Amino acid sequence: MTTTGLSKYRGLVQSLNPKIVLIEEAAETLEGFVSVACFKSLEHLILVGDHQQLRGHCNDQELAGKPYYLGISMFERLVRNKVDFSQLKRQRRMIPEIRRALKPIYEELEDHPSVLDRLPIPGMGGVNSYFFTHKGRETTDIQMSKVNHEEAGMVVGFFDYLVLNGMNPGEITVLTFYNGQRKLIMRKLREHRHLQGKCFNVVTVDSYQGEENEVVLLSLVRSNARGNIGFLEVENRVCVALSRARRGSYIFGDAPNLCKSSMLWWHVIQAMAKDPCRIGFYLHLTCKKHDEKTFIKEPGEFDALDGGCAKPCREEMSCGHICTLNCHPFSHDVVSCKKCCDPSQLFGSPQLQVHFAYEGRPYSGISHDTQPYRDFAAGGHVESDKNLVALAEREAAEARGKQLDEENFAALFSDPGDATLVDSSKKMTLIRTMSNGKGGSRGVWKGTYKPPRPKNAGPEASLLDL
Ligand SMILES: [Zn+2]
Ligand SMILES: [Zn+2]
Ligand SMILES: [Zn+2]
Repeated sequence: MTTTGLSKYRGLVQSLNPKIVLIEEAAETLEGFVSVACFKSLEHLILVGDHQQLRGHCNDQELAGKPYYLGISMFERLVRNKVDFSQLKRQRRMIPEIRRALKPIYEELEDHPSVLDRLPIPGMGGVNSYFFTHKGRETTDIQMSKVNHEEAGMVVGFFDYLVLNGMNPGEITVLTFYNGQRKLIMRKLREHRHLQGKCFNVVTVDSYQGEENEVVLLSLVRSNARGNIGFLEVENRVCVALSRARRGSYIFGDAPNLCKSSMLWWHVIQAMAKDPCRIGFYLHLTCKKHDEKTFIKEPGEFDALDGGCAKPCREEMSCGHICTLNCHPFSHDVVSCKKCCDPSQLFGSPQLQVHFAYEGRPYSGISHDTQPYRDFAAGGHVESDKNLVALAEREAAEARGKQLDEENFAALFSDPGDATLVDSSKKMTLIRTMSNGKGGSRGVWKGTYKPPRPKNAGPEASLLDL
C-alpha cells in the first residue's frame, strides 16, 4: 500500500499487529510517513532506497531546510549518521561505458554479467555514451524557465538520426532539468519533418526517478558567462539524470561552464574523458553502410544526412531509377521514388496507377515503417495536392494542344496562308507559324509537301513527314 494509504487506514493495519514493515523508495519518503509505520507490535523496519537520488518533497519550504530539515528522509538521516546499512554494489541497468560516468557518485559499483552483451546503438560506431559540449547560450522563456535553442536543435537532430537508424522513438527518452526546455524539445520533435505522428518521451529529471530507457538524451541547458548552473548543482538530481540509460547515454551541455561551478560535474567529465574519450565539441556518427564517420557541430548539419554519411546513395531502386538520397541505413523498399511521382514522367504510365493506389495520391521522398515517411517532409498533403493539380493542368494543356494542331493541319490543306514554300516542283518544305489559339505563336512547324500524284499513280501522298 502507499504511505498515504497507511496513514489513512493505520487503525486497520495496526489491528493486524504487524511485526515487519518494508518501505520501498524510503529515501523519497519523508520521516513523518515512516513514523506512521512504527506500530507498537513492530519488531523489524526495513527501509530500501538510495539516499543519493531524489529526496522527498516537503510542502512547506521553510521546514525543509535549516534548522528542521524535514525534507530529509529518515533513511538518509540514518545513513548519514552511520547506522549499519548494506549497499547493493552490482548494477543490472546500464552498460559499463555508461556506468563509468557514475564513478564519482557510486565508487564501488560493479556490473552484473547481464549488462555486458547489450546491442550497441545503431549508427554510432560503438560510441554508446558521449558528452557533446557546446557554447550555445541559454535564454529564458516567457514563463521564466531556462531554454537553450541550439542544444534543443542538436537533441532533435540526433533523435531523428537514431530513428532513421532503426531505433523506435519509444526506446529514446529526452531528459532535461528545465520545464521550458522540455516543452521546446517536444515542440521541435513534433514539428520535425520526419517525426510527425510519433510519440515521444520528453520529461524532466524530477519526474523520471525509478524509470529507465534504452537510450537517454540529456539536455543540460545551462550555459552563461556567470558560470551559474542552477539545478545542475543538486547532486541527487545529477545522479538520477546520469543513471537512467541502459544502452546509450548522450549528454548535451556546456562542459567548461559545469566544471567551473561543480566539483561533481568536474569529476563526471574527467571520468568520461578517460580512454576511450567520450567528450568533445563534435558528435561522432558512423554510417552503417560505409563505416564513414561524420562529425556534427551544428544542428543544421543533420539536415544534410539521411541517417548515414553525406555520400550520395546513387543505387538503383526496384523501379529502375537511381536513388537521389544521401547514404541511408534503411532499405529502398521504404523509399518512394521522386521521379515516379513526377506527373510529367508518370503520365500514361502503369507506374501512375501503382503510386496512386498507395494512399490514393502520389507522394515523394522516403517512407518509413508502414507509412509514407517523408511524405510529410515535402509538405505532405499540400505537396500531393499540388502534384494532382499539375497533372490535371498538363492533361488539359495537352488536349488543347492536340486540338490546335488539328486545326493548323486543316489550315495547311485549304490555304497555304503565311506558309513559306521552299523549293518547287515535286517536293516542298513547308514552314508555318502555328497559332496558339489566342492570337500568338506556339512554335514553327516544318514539314515536307509532295504534290498529289495523278490517279492510279501510286499510294496517297502524305502531307507531313515529321
Ligand atoms: Zn555512408
Ligand atoms: Zn538509396
Ligand atoms: Zn522510380
